[in-house]
Amino acid sequence: MITLSLIKSIFQIKNEEKSLSEVSLEKLTETMKTCIACQLHKNRTQVVPGMYGPKNGLCLIGEAPGYNEDLQGQPFVGRSGKLLDKMLNNVGLVRGENLSILNVVKCRPTINGSNRTPTASELKFCGEKWLTKQLQILKPKLIVTLGGISLKFFFPKAGVTRSAGTIMVSTDGYPIYSTFHPAYLLRNGRPELYEKYESHFKEIANIINKDSSRISEIAPLEPAKPKSQKKLTDFFGK
Ligand code: URA
Repeated sequence: MITLSLIKSIFQIKNEEKSLSEVSLEKLTETMKTCIACQLHKNRTQVVPGMYGPKNGLCLIGEAPGYNEDLQGQPFVGRSGKLLDKMLNNVGLVRGENLSILNVVKCRPTINGSNRTPTASELKFCGEKWLTKQLQILKPKLIVTLGGISLKFFFPKAGVTRSAGTIMVSTDGYPIYSTFHPAYLLRNGRPELYEKYESHFKEIANIINKDSSRISEIAPLEPAKPKSQKKLTDFFGK
């Protein structure tokens, strides 16, 4: 017989489970903020852990903080971030509310005081040390890589030009949707490219809002290599 106290204890366990995993994301973030494991800590103002949304949701991943992010401690707060927010908001997605935004590298890489692209070893070292753990807690339903650098963390041989608009499955089993970095749009802002970018965000919103149940159909696939990229329509129809 199910008693009231049994029901209460089930709820209590559920709540404890929830708060345990929340604490661990918080704890992880606190530890991350004190990281001095590589040289990048020497020139940073602060660590930029990322902005968290709900678990089992959407997670956007950029490469590394730049000047503004380093000052404010938040990802994508400069010009690229404004364009990214516009793309997201157009399709009803709002950072922190229904998605997380992270970077592979958590401290700003610099050269003579200016931003620089993180090296392959910085990506691997910081990504494995922190991003991988964040993802283990957040358990995203869909990861969106912004640009070729974050794509390379998951698929070292892939290039964004060929893979943009496709989903591949990472070795850890995450479905990864590849799209452009917003800074690329700002540099090469041809109208066709903006249209393509908008269409990517529409697809992403569509997957998260309507078709998310079908993502589980992708996850059991073998880790995809660049040559086995699939078009979205292969998974979700036209
Ligand atoms: N570019 C990135 O890749 N990440 C940021 O947080 C800002 C700019």
